[in-house]
Amino acid sequence: MRIRFVLVRTSHPGNIGAAARAIRTMGFARLVLVAPKRYPDPEVQALAAGADDVLERIALAPDLVAAVADCRLVLGLSARRRGVALPEYAPRAAAVEAQAAAARGDEVALVFGNERTGLENDELKRCHAMVRIPSVDDFGSLNLAQAVQVMAYELRLAGLEVPPAPPRPRDPPATAAEMEAFFGHLAVTLDDIDFHKGRSPRTILQRLRKLFMRAQPDSRELRVLRGILSDAQRMARRAHAAGEPPPG
Ligand code: SAH
Repeated sequence: MRIRFVLVRTSHPGNIGAAARAIRTMGFARLVLVAPKRYPDPEVQALAAGADDVLERIALAPDLVAAVADCRLVLGLSARRRGVALPEYAPRAAAVEAQAAAARGDEVALVFGNERTGLENDELKRCHAMVRIPSVDDFGSLNLAQAVQVMAYELRLAGLEVPPAPPRPRDPPATAAEMEAFFGHLAVTLDDIDFHKGRSPRTILQRLRKLFMRAQPDSRELRVLRGILSDAQRMARRAHAAGEPPPG
C-alpha cells in the first residue's frame, strides 16, 4: 500500500480518529501525523469507531518534509487557491494520478492542513500539485475528516479501475528528500557565484523551485545538476583564491 494520508498540525483529535475511520472504509491504512496539537487522546479512539489497525500504524513526523521524504508524488489538499502557483487537480484526476504512480511502485502522499489555517504556503511549496474539492465559493471549507473521506473515496474508485501497471517510461522522479537536498545546494551555490548581487534571493529561489518541481527530475538527473553546482562552487573558490574581489 503505497498511498499515505498526511495530516498537518491537526488541532482536534476527533478529526484524527474520524480520518482513520474514513481511510479504513476505503481500504487504506497509512496515516501520518505532523506535529498534532493533541495526540494521543481518547477522542482519537472514540471517533475511529474500531479502525484500530489504522490507529496502531499511525506514524508521527516532526514536519512535512520528514513526513514525505521518500515520496515521489506529493499532493496538497487546499480549500483555497494560495499564493503558490501550483498545478491544480480535481479530486478525481488527482486520484487517477496517485493510483497510477502507486501502481508503478512510487510512494504517494496526500497532505491535509490544519482545521483553521489549512496548509501554509511553505508546505504547499513541497507539493507537486494541489487538489481542490470543488465546493461552493462562499462556504468552501470541508471538515478535515470529510475532506479525507472524499479523497479516500476517489482513490478507491480510481484504484478499482486502475489497469495493471504499464511499463515505466522513465526512471522514477527523485524523492522529496533528494529534491530538498538539491534546493539547499542550489541556494548555497547561487550565493557562492554571487548570482544575487545584493538582490533578495527569495523570489528567484521560489521560481527555480517551481521550475524543478514541475520538471520532476529523476535521481540521476539530480546528480548531474548537483555535479554542475559543485563545479560552479569549485570555480568560484578558485576565482576568489586568485584574487578576484569576493562577492557581496
Ligand atoms: N480555512 C482553511 C480550511 C482548513 S479545512 C483553509 O482555507 O485552508 C482543513 C483541511 O481540509 C484543509 O487544509 C484541506 O486539506 C482540507 N479541505 C477542506 N476543504 C477542502 C476543499 N474544498 N478542497 C480541498 N481540501 C479541503
